[in-house]
Amino acid sequence: MINIIDEKCVGCGVCVSACPFDAIDIKDDKAVILDNCTICGSCVSSCNFDAIDFQKEESDDTIDKSEYHGIWVFGEQRNNEVLPVVFELLGEGRKLAEELAVPLSVVLMGSNLADKAHTLISYGADNVYMVEDESLETYNDQSYTDIFTQLVNTYKPEIILIGATTYGRSLAPRIASRLNTGLTADCTYLSIDKETGNLMQTRPAFGGNLMATIVCPDRRPQMSTVRPKVMKPIEPDSTRTGEVIRPNVNIPENIKIKVIDQVQTLCEKVSLTEADIIVAGGRGMGEPKNFELVKELADVLGGAVGATRATVDAGWIDYSHQVGQTGKTVGPKVYFACGISGAVQHLAGMSSSDIIIAINKDADAPIFKVATYGIVGDVLEVLPELIKEFKGRL
Ligand SMILES: Cc1cc2nc3c(=O)[nH]c(=O)nc-3n(C[C@H](O)[C@H](O)[C@H](O)COP(=O)(O)OP(=O)(O)OC[C@H]3O[C@@H](n4cnc5c(N)ncnc54)[C@H](O)[C@@H]3O)c2cc1C
Ligand code: SF4
Ligand code: SF4
Repeated sequence: MINIIDEKCVGCGVCVSACPFDAIDIKDDKAVILDNCTICGSCVSSCNFDAIDFQKEESDDTIDKSEYHGIWVFGEQRNNEVLPVVFELLGEGRKLAEELAVPLSVVLMGSNLADKAHTLISYGADNVYMVEDESLETYNDQSYTDIFTQLVNTYKPEIILIGATTYGRSLAPRIASRLNTGLTADCTYLSIDKETGNLMQTRPAFGGNLMATIVCPDRRPQMSTVRPKVMKPIEPDSTRTGEVIRPNVNIPENIKIKVIDQVQTLCEKVSLTEADIIVAGGRGMGEPKNFELVKELADVLGGAVGATRATVDAGWIDYSHQVGQTGKTVGPKVYFACGISGAVQHLAGMSSSDIIIAINKDADAPIFKVATYGIVGDVLEVLPELIKEFKGRL
Protein backbone atom coordinates (compact mmCIF):
# COMPACT_ATOMS: atom_id res chain seq x y z
CA MET A 1 0.00 0.00 0.00
CA ILE A 2 1.33 3.43 -0.92
CA ASN A 3 -0.34 6.79 -0.35
CA ILE A 4 0.66 10.43 -0.45
CA ILE A 5 -0.23 12.27 2.77
CA ASP A 6 -1.55 15.50 1.24
CA GLU A 7 -1.20 17.50 4.48
CA LYS A 8 2.55 16.80 4.54
CA CYS A 9 3.33 16.95 0.79
CA VAL A 10 4.81 20.31 -0.30
CA GLY A 11 4.89 19.36 -3.99
CA CYS A 12 8.69 19.64 -4.21
CA GLY A 13 8.80 16.85 -6.86
CA VAL A 14 11.88 15.08 -5.48
CA CYS A 15 9.99 11.77 -5.43
CA VAL A 16 9.19 12.12 -9.15
CA SER A 17 12.82 11.71 -10.15
CA ALA A 18 13.34 9.01 -7.51
CA CYS A 19 10.73 6.73 -9.07
CA PRO A 20 12.31 4.35 -11.61
CA PHE A 21 8.90 3.65 -13.18
CA ASP A 22 7.67 7.22 -13.89
CA ALA A 23 4.79 6.44 -11.59
CA ILE A 24 4.56 9.74 -9.71
CA ASP A 25 3.23 13.00 -11.06
CA ILE A 26 2.71 16.42 -9.48
CA LYS A 27 -0.85 17.71 -9.81
CA ASP A 28 -2.11 20.86 -8.06
CA ASP A 29 1.17 21.05 -6.13
CA LYS A 30 0.75 17.58 -4.66
CA ALA A 31 2.36 14.28 -5.56
CA VAL A 32 0.03 11.72 -7.12
CA ILE A 33 0.78 8.01 -7.43
CA LEU A 34 -0.15 6.72 -10.88
CA ASP A 35 -1.63 3.36 -11.88
CA ASN A 36 1.69 1.94 -13.09
CA CYS A 37 3.17 2.06 -9.56
CA THR A 38 4.78 -1.31 -8.76
CA ILE A 39 4.80 -0.58 -5.01
CA CYS A 40 8.58 -1.03 -5.00
CA GLY A 41 9.02 1.55 -2.22
CA SER A 42 12.02 3.30 -3.82
CA CYS A 43 10.45 6.76 -3.55
CA VAL A 44 9.81 6.62 0.21
CA SER A 45 13.28 7.60 1.41
CA SER A 46 13.54 10.42 -1.16
CA CYS A 47 10.81 12.47 0.58
CA ASN A 48 12.20 14.80 3.23
CA PHE A 49 8.70 15.53 4.55
CA ASP A 50 7.59 12.00 5.45
CA ALA A 51 4.72 12.52 3.04
CA ILE A 52 4.79 9.03 1.52
CA ASP A 53 2.98 6.40 3.51
CA PHE A 54 4.23 2.97 2.48
CA GLN A 55 3.20 -0.31 4.05
CA LYS A 56 4.65 -3.51 2.80
CA GLU A 57 1.93 -6.08 2.48
CA GLU A 58 2.81 -9.22 4.37
CA SER A 59 2.12 -12.28 2.31
CA ASP A 60 -0.21 -14.69 4.08
CA ASP A 61 1.15 -17.33 1.76
CA THR A 62 4.11 -18.12 4.04
CA ILE A 63 6.03 -21.30 3.61
CA ASP A 64 7.90 -23.45 6.09
CA LYS A 65 11.45 -23.23 4.77
CA SER A 66 12.63 -26.01 7.06
CA GLU A 67 10.64 -28.47 4.91
CA TYR A 68 12.93 -27.78 1.96
CA HIS A 69 16.16 -29.74 1.75
CA GLY A 70 18.79 -30.55 -0.86
CA ILE A 71 20.02 -29.24 -4.19
CA TRP A 72 18.64 -30.27 -7.58
CA VAL A 73 20.09 -29.98 -11.06
CA PHE A 74 17.92 -30.30 -14.18
CA GLY A 75 19.50 -33.17 -16.15
CA GLU A 76 18.83 -31.79 -19.62
CA GLN A 77 19.35 -34.35 -22.37
CA ARG A 78 19.10 -34.13 -26.13
CA ASN A 79 18.95 -37.23 -28.30
CA ASN A 80 19.55 -39.19 -25.08
CA GLU A 81 22.89 -37.47 -24.41
CA VAL A 82 23.19 -35.48 -21.20
CA LEU A 83 24.34 -31.93 -22.03
CA PRO A 84 27.78 -30.80 -20.75
CA VAL A 85 26.14 -27.95 -18.78
CA VAL A 86 24.58 -30.58 -16.48
CA PHE A 87 28.05 -31.78 -15.45
CA GLU A 88 29.14 -28.17 -14.94
CA LEU A 89 26.14 -27.55 -12.67
CA LEU A 90 26.89 -30.74 -10.77
CA GLY A 91 30.43 -29.44 -10.16
CA GLU A 92 29.04 -26.21 -8.70
CA GLY A 93 26.17 -28.01 -6.95
CA ARG A 94 28.67 -30.34 -5.24
CA LYS A 95 30.42 -27.36 -3.59
CA LEU A 96 27.11 -25.85 -2.44
CA ALA A 97 25.79 -29.21 -1.21
CA GLU A 98 28.90 -29.80 0.86
CA GLU A 99 28.67 -26.35 2.39
CA LEU A 100 25.03 -26.93 3.35
CA ALA A 101 25.62 -30.62 4.18
CA VAL A 102 22.69 -31.68 1.99
CA PRO A 103 22.34 -34.17 -0.88
CA LEU A 104 22.82 -33.20 -4.53
CA SER A 105 20.33 -34.71 -6.99
CA VAL A 106 19.64 -34.68 -10.72
CA VAL A 107 16.20 -34.80 -12.31
CA LEU A 108 16.47 -36.78 -15.53
CA MET A 109 13.47 -36.99 -17.86
CA GLY A 110 13.31 -38.85 -21.15
CA SER A 111 13.16 -42.37 -22.50
CA ASN A 112 15.80 -45.17 -22.28
CA LEU A 113 18.11 -43.24 -20.00
CA ALA A 114 19.05 -45.97 -17.51
CA ASP A 115 22.72 -45.96 -18.57
CA LYS A 116 23.04 -42.23 -17.85
CA ALA A 117 22.41 -42.44 -14.11
CA HIS A 118 25.82 -43.84 -13.19
CA THR A 119 27.61 -41.17 -15.24
CA LEU A 120 25.70 -38.46 -13.37
CA ILE A 121 26.62 -40.05 -10.03
CA SER A 122 30.29 -40.21 -11.06
CA TYR A 123 30.11 -36.44 -11.71
CA GLY A 124 28.91 -35.71 -8.17
CA ALA A 125 25.18 -36.57 -7.91
CA ASP A 126 23.99 -38.39 -4.77
CA ASN A 127 20.58 -39.19 -6.25
CA VAL A 128 19.09 -39.36 -9.71
CA TYR A 129 15.33 -38.86 -9.96
CA MET A 130 14.58 -40.69 -13.19
CA VAL A 131 11.26 -40.23 -15.01
CA GLU A 132 11.05 -42.29 -18.20
CA ASP A 133 8.26 -42.28 -20.71
CA GLU A 134 8.20 -42.30 -24.49
CA SER A 135 6.39 -38.96 -24.49
CA LEU A 136 9.37 -37.38 -22.69
CA GLU A 137 11.98 -38.39 -25.25
CA THR A 138 12.13 -34.86 -26.61
CA TYR A 139 11.74 -31.74 -24.51
CA ASN A 140 8.19 -30.46 -24.18
CA ASP A 141 7.49 -27.27 -22.19
CA GLN A 142 4.15 -28.46 -20.92
CA SER A 143 4.95 -31.99 -19.77
CA TYR A 144 8.45 -31.24 -18.44
CA THR A 145 7.10 -28.29 -16.39
CA ASP A 146 4.24 -30.36 -15.09
CA ILE A 147 6.40 -33.30 -13.99
CA PHE A 148 9.18 -31.15 -12.54
CA THR A 149 6.62 -29.23 -10.49
CA GLN A 150 5.07 -32.46 -9.20
CA LEU A 151 8.52 -33.63 -8.10
CA VAL A 152 9.31 -30.37 -6.32
CA ASN A 153 6.00 -30.46 -4.48
CA THR A 154 6.73 -34.01 -3.33
CA TYR A 155 10.44 -33.86 -2.47
CA LYS A 156 10.86 -30.12 -1.72
CA PRO A 157 14.43 -29.23 -2.74
CA GLU A 158 15.77 -25.92 -1.39
CA ILE A 159 17.81 -25.01 -4.50
CA ILE A 160 17.28 -25.80 -8.21
CA LEU A 161 20.00 -25.16 -10.82
CA ILE A 162 19.10 -25.20 -14.52
CA GLY A 163 21.35 -24.65 -17.55
CA ALA A 164 20.57 -21.41 -19.39
CA THR A 165 20.12 -23.29 -22.66
CA THR A 166 17.20 -22.66 -25.00
CA TYR A 167 15.12 -25.29 -23.22
CA GLY A 168 16.39 -24.41 -19.74
CA ARG A 169 15.46 -20.76 -20.26
CA SER A 170 11.97 -21.87 -21.20
CA LEU A 171 11.54 -24.42 -18.41
CA ALA A 172 12.90 -22.45 -15.42
CA PRO A 173 10.43 -19.52 -15.43
CA ARG A 174 7.49 -21.87 -15.97
CA ILE A 175 8.45 -23.90 -12.89
CA ALA A 176 9.16 -20.74 -10.84
CA SER A 177 5.80 -19.31 -11.80
CA ARG A 178 3.91 -22.50 -10.88
CA LEU A 179 5.70 -22.66 -7.53
CA ASN A 180 5.34 -18.92 -6.90
CA THR A 181 9.04 -18.56 -6.19
CA GLY A 182 11.92 -16.42 -7.45
CA LEU A 183 14.32 -17.12 -10.31
CA THR A 184 17.66 -15.49 -11.07
CA ALA A 185 18.72 -15.89 -14.70
CA ASP A 186 22.25 -16.16 -16.10
CA CYS A 187 24.12 -16.41 -12.80
CA THR A 188 27.90 -16.31 -13.06
CA TYR A 189 28.69 -17.02 -9.40
CA LEU A 190 26.82 -18.88 -6.66
CA SER A 191 27.60 -19.07 -2.96
CA ILE A 192 25.89 -19.69 0.37
CA ASP A 193 25.26 -16.95 2.91
CA LYS A 194 26.85 -18.42 6.03
CA GLU A 195 24.41 -16.73 8.41
CA THR A 196 21.10 -17.56 6.73
CA GLY A 197 21.97 -20.48 4.46
CA ASN A 198 20.36 -18.57 1.57
CA LEU A 199 21.75 -18.96 -1.94
CA MET A 200 23.61 -15.82 -3.09
CA GLN A 201 23.04 -15.57 -6.83
CA THR A 202 25.43 -13.22 -8.61
CA ARG A 203 24.94 -12.04 -12.20
CA PRO A 204 25.98 -9.09 -14.35
CA ALA A 205 23.58 -6.14 -14.34
CA PHE A 206 23.35 -2.79 -16.15
CA GLY A 207 25.09 -3.98 -19.30
CA GLY A 208 27.74 -5.88 -17.35
CA ASN A 209 28.98 -2.72 -15.63
CA LEU A 210 28.21 -4.05 -12.17
CA MET A 211 27.54 -7.38 -10.54
CA ALA A 212 24.26 -7.84 -8.66
CA THR A 213 23.88 -10.44 -5.92
CA ILE A 214 20.28 -11.58 -5.62
CA VAL A 215 18.70 -13.58 -2.79
CA CYS A 216 15.33 -15.26 -2.49
CA PRO A 217 14.92 -15.13 1.30
CA ASP A 218 11.21 -15.86 1.73
CA ARG A 219 10.31 -18.43 -0.90
CA ARG A 220 11.48 -21.94 -1.71
CA PRO A 221 12.95 -23.40 -3.81
CA GLN A 222 15.59 -20.85 -4.76
CA MET A 223 16.06 -21.11 -8.52
CA SER A 224 18.97 -20.09 -10.75
CA THR A 225 19.90 -20.57 -14.36
CA VAL A 226 23.57 -20.64 -15.33
CA ARG A 227 24.93 -20.40 -18.87
CA PRO A 228 26.99 -23.26 -20.31
CA LYS A 229 30.75 -22.96 -19.79
CA VAL A 230 30.48 -20.65 -16.78
CA MET A 231 30.97 -23.34 -14.09
CA LYS A 232 33.49 -26.18 -14.10
CA PRO A 233 32.65 -29.89 -13.75
CA ILE A 234 34.55 -32.03 -11.25
CA GLU A 235 36.73 -34.93 -12.37
CA PRO A 236 34.39 -37.94 -12.70
CA ASP A 237 34.93 -40.72 -10.17
CA SER A 238 33.49 -44.04 -11.30
CA THR A 239 33.72 -45.46 -7.76
CA ARG A 240 31.16 -42.94 -6.41
CA THR A 241 27.85 -44.44 -5.37
CA GLY A 242 24.39 -42.96 -5.38
CA GLU A 243 20.71 -43.84 -5.55
CA VAL A 244 18.47 -44.00 -8.60
CA ILE A 245 14.91 -43.05 -7.58
CA ARG A 246 11.97 -43.72 -9.88
CA PRO A 247 9.31 -41.43 -8.45
CA ASN A 248 5.61 -41.94 -8.88
CA VAL A 249 4.41 -39.10 -11.11
CA ASN A 250 1.44 -38.49 -13.35
CA ILE A 251 2.66 -38.32 -16.92
CA PRO A 252 0.50 -35.58 -18.46
CA GLU A 253 -1.80 -36.59 -21.27
CA ASN A 254 -3.65 -34.33 -23.73
CA ILE A 255 -0.56 -32.19 -24.18
CA LYS A 256 -1.40 -29.13 -26.26
CA ILE A 257 2.21 -28.54 -27.36
CA LYS A 258 3.31 -31.10 -29.95
CA VAL A 259 6.93 -31.32 -31.09
CA ILE A 260 6.69 -32.09 -34.80
CA ASP A 261 10.36 -32.16 -35.70
CA GLN A 262 13.76 -31.12 -34.43
CA VAL A 263 16.13 -29.44 -36.88
CA GLN A 264 19.81 -29.02 -36.17
CA THR A 265 21.69 -25.89 -37.26
CA LEU A 266 24.10 -26.89 -39.98
CA CYS A 267 25.98 -23.61 -40.30
CA GLU A 268 28.75 -24.40 -37.82
CA LYS A 269 31.41 -27.01 -38.52
CA VAL A 270 32.56 -26.81 -34.91
CA SER A 271 30.12 -25.80 -32.18
CA LEU A 272 31.19 -22.46 -30.71
CA THR A 273 30.31 -23.40 -27.14
CA GLU A 274 32.11 -26.74 -27.35
CA ALA A 275 35.22 -25.60 -29.28
CA ASP A 276 38.69 -25.88 -27.74
CA ILE A 277 39.99 -23.17 -30.06
CA ILE A 278 38.06 -20.07 -31.13
CA VAL A 279 39.27 -17.43 -33.56
CA ALA A 280 37.08 -14.35 -33.15
CA GLY A 281 37.02 -11.21 -35.24
CA GLY A 282 35.96 -7.68 -34.40
CA ARG A 283 35.42 -4.40 -36.20
CA GLY A 284 39.21 -4.12 -36.53
CA MET A 285 38.96 -6.67 -39.37
CA GLY A 286 37.94 -3.62 -41.41
CA GLU A 287 35.41 -5.14 -43.81
CA PRO A 288 33.43 -8.38 -44.25
CA LYS A 289 35.77 -9.93 -46.81
CA ASN A 290 38.66 -9.77 -44.34
CA PHE A 291 36.70 -12.13 -42.07
CA GLU A 292 37.94 -14.85 -44.44
CA LEU A 293 41.29 -14.59 -42.60
CA VAL A 294 39.52 -15.32 -39.29
CA LYS A 295 37.75 -18.30 -40.87
CA GLU A 296 40.98 -19.56 -42.45
CA LEU A 297 42.90 -19.51 -39.16
CA ALA A 298 39.98 -21.27 -37.43
CA ASP A 299 39.99 -23.94 -40.18
CA VAL A 300 43.75 -24.48 -39.96
CA LEU A 301 43.50 -24.94 -36.18
CA GLY A 302 40.27 -26.98 -36.27
CA GLY A 303 38.51 -24.29 -34.27
CA ALA A 304 35.28 -22.31 -34.42
CA VAL A 305 34.67 -18.74 -35.55
CA GLY A 306 33.54 -16.12 -33.04
CA ALA A 307 32.57 -12.49 -33.54
CA THR A 308 31.71 -9.32 -31.67
CA ARG A 309 28.30 -7.75 -31.69
CA ALA A 310 29.64 -4.82 -33.71
CA THR A 311 30.43 -7.15 -36.63
CA VAL A 312 27.13 -9.03 -36.26
CA ASP A 313 25.19 -5.75 -36.21
CA ALA A 314 27.09 -4.63 -39.31
CA GLY A 315 25.91 -7.81 -41.07
CA TRP A 316 29.45 -9.19 -41.55
CA ILE A 317 28.62 -12.50 -39.90
CA ASP A 318 25.62 -14.39 -38.53
CA TYR A 319 24.42 -13.82 -34.95
CA SER A 320 25.08 -17.51 -34.13
CA HIS A 321 28.79 -16.55 -33.96
CA GLN A 322 28.36 -13.69 -31.48
CA VAL A 323 30.27 -14.05 -28.23
CA GLY A 324 29.36 -11.96 -25.22
CA GLN A 325 26.65 -10.85 -22.90
CA THR A 326 23.94 -10.99 -25.55
CA GLY A 327 25.64 -13.78 -27.49
CA LYS A 328 27.23 -17.05 -26.42
CA THR A 329 29.40 -17.71 -23.40
CA VAL A 330 32.48 -19.70 -24.37
CA GLY A 331 35.39 -21.22 -22.45
CA PRO A 332 37.88 -22.60 -24.97
CA LYS A 333 41.48 -23.56 -24.27
CA VAL A 334 42.63 -20.82 -26.69
CA TYR A 335 40.73 -17.69 -27.78
CA PHE A 336 42.16 -15.48 -30.52
CA ALA A 337 40.70 -11.94 -30.35
CA CYS A 338 41.45 -10.30 -33.70
CA GLY A 339 40.72 -6.59 -33.97
CA ILE A 340 38.51 -6.69 -30.88
CA SER A 341 38.61 -3.78 -28.43
CA GLY A 342 37.59 -5.79 -25.34
CA ALA A 343 34.32 -4.13 -24.29
CA VAL A 344 32.90 -5.49 -21.00
CA GLN A 345 29.95 -6.99 -22.87
CA HIS A 346 32.32 -9.01 -25.07
CA LEU A 347 34.55 -10.02 -22.14
CA ALA A 348 31.45 -11.31 -20.31
CA GLY A 349 31.29 -14.13 -22.86
CA MET A 350 34.94 -15.16 -23.20
CA SER A 351 37.07 -14.07 -20.25
CA SER A 352 37.09 -17.57 -18.73
CA SER A 353 39.07 -18.87 -21.75
CA ASP A 354 42.27 -20.60 -20.60
CA ILE A 355 44.55 -18.65 -22.96
CA ILE A 356 43.60 -15.39 -24.69
CA ILE A 357 45.72 -14.18 -27.61
CA ALA A 358 44.84 -10.61 -28.62
CA ILE A 359 45.86 -8.90 -31.84
CA ASN A 360 45.17 -5.18 -31.91
CA LYS A 361 46.95 -2.19 -33.41
CA ASP A 362 46.16 -0.08 -30.33
CA ALA A 363 48.54 -1.00 -27.50
CA ASP A 364 46.09 0.54 -25.00
CA ALA A 365 43.06 -1.51 -26.12
CA PRO A 366 41.27 -2.99 -23.04
CA ILE A 367 41.51 -6.51 -24.51
CA PHE A 368 45.20 -6.52 -23.55
CA LYS A 369 44.20 -6.32 -19.85
CA VAL A 370 42.72 -9.84 -20.05
CA ALA A 371 45.06 -11.25 -22.70
CA THR A 372 47.60 -13.95 -21.88
CA TYR A 373 49.60 -12.97 -24.97
CA GLY A 374 49.27 -9.69 -26.85
CA ILE A 375 50.36 -8.86 -30.37
CA VAL A 376 50.35 -5.12 -31.15
CA GLY A 377 49.94 -4.92 -34.89
CA ASP A 378 47.66 -4.85 -37.91
CA VAL A 379 45.42 -7.95 -38.04
CA LEU A 380 45.63 -7.91 -41.82
CA GLU A 381 49.39 -8.43 -41.55
CA VAL A 382 49.51 -10.63 -38.44
CA LEU A 383 46.79 -13.14 -39.39
CA PRO A 384 48.36 -14.23 -42.72
CA GLU A 385 51.65 -14.78 -40.86
CA LEU A 386 49.93 -16.90 -38.20
CA ILE A 387 48.06 -18.91 -40.85
CA LYS A 388 51.33 -19.56 -42.70
CA GLU A 389 53.13 -20.53 -39.51
CA PHE A 390 50.40 -22.92 -38.25
CA LYS A 391 49.94 -24.48 -41.71
CA GLY A 392 53.65 -25.26 -41.71
CA ARG A 393 53.47 -26.89 -38.28
CA LEU A 394 50.26 -28.93 -38.49
C1 LIG B 1 23.45 -4.21 -23.71
C2 LIG B 1 24.65 -4.48 -24.58
C3 LIG B 1 24.96 -5.79 -24.90
C4 LIG B 1 26.08 -6.06 -25.71
N1 LIG B 1 26.39 -7.37 -25.97
C5 LIG B 1 27.52 -7.63 -26.66
C6 LIG B 1 27.91 -8.97 -26.91
O1 LIG B 1 27.24 -9.95 -26.56
N2 LIG B 1 29.07 -9.18 -27.57
C7 LIG B 1 29.88 -8.14 -28.03
O2 LIG B 1 30.92 -8.42 -28.63
N3 LIG B 1 29.50 -6.89 -27.81
C8 LIG B 1 28.35 -6.60 -27.16
N4 LIG B 1 27.98 -5.30 -27.00
C9 LIG B 1 28.73 -4.25 -27.72
C10 LIG B 1 30.03 -3.85 -27.03
O3 LIG B 1 29.76 -2.83 -26.09
C11 LIG B 1 31.04 -3.32 -28.06
O4 LIG B 1 30.47 -2.26 -28.78
C12 LIG B 1 31.54 -4.36 -29.05
O5 LIG B 1 31.97 -5.53 -28.38
C13 LIG B 1 32.70 -3.78 -29.84
O6 LIG B 1 33.05 -4.66 -30.86
P1 LIG B 1 34.49 -4.60 -31.50
O7 LIG B 1 35.54 -4.88 -30.48
O8 LIG B 1 34.44 -5.47 -32.71
O9 LIG B 1 34.60 -3.11 -32.08
P2 LIG B 1 35.37 -1.83 -31.57
O10 LIG B 1 35.05 -1.53 -30.17
O11 LIG B 1 35.14 -0.79 -32.60
O12 LIG B 1 36.92 -2.26 -31.60
C14 LIG B 1 37.65 -2.48 -32.75
C15 LIG B 1 39.10 -2.71 -32.31
O13 LIG B 1 39.87 -3.08 -33.43
C16 LIG B 1 41.11 -2.41 -33.38
N5 LIG B 1 41.60 -2.30 -34.76
C17 LIG B 1 41.11 -1.49 -35.75
N6 LIG B 1 41.75 -1.74 -36.91
C18 LIG B 1 42.67 -2.71 -36.64
C19 LIG B 1 43.64 -3.40 -37.42
N7 LIG B 1 43.80 -3.15 -38.73
N8 LIG B 1 44.42 -4.31 -36.80
C20 LIG B 1 44.27 -4.59 -35.46
N9 LIG B 1 43.37 -3.97 -34.69
C21 LIG B 1 42.57 -3.06 -35.26
C22 LIG B 1 40.83 -1.09 -32.71
O14 LIG B 1 42.00 -0.61 -32.08
C23 LIG B 1 39.75 -1.47 -31.70
O15 LIG B 1 40.32 -1.81 -30.45
C24 LIG B 1 26.88 -5.00 -26.22
C25 LIG B 1 26.53 -3.69 -25.89
C26 LIG B 1 25.44 -3.44 -25.10
C27 LIG B 1 25.12 -2.00 -24.75
S1 SF4 C 1 9.10 14.29 -2.22
FE1 SF4 C 1 7.51 14.22 -0.64
S2 SF4 C 1 6.92 16.34 -0.39
FE2 SF4 C 1 8.03 16.27 -2.29
S3 SF4 C 1 6.44 15.94 -3.85
FE3 SF4 C 1 7.14 13.94 -3.26
S4 SF4 C 1 5.75 13.32 -1.63
FE4 SF4 C 1 5.50 15.49 -1.88
S1 SF4 D 1 6.54 2.81 -4.95
FE1 SF4 D 1 8.06 2.55 -6.59
S2 SF4 D 1 6.85 2.56 -8.46
FE2 SF4 D 1 5.49 3.37 -6.85
S3 SF4 D 1 5.73 5.56 -6.97
FE3 SF4 D 1 7.21 4.86 -5.44
S4 SF4 D 1 9.12 4.51 -6.60
FE4 SF4 D 1 7.45 4.70 -8.11
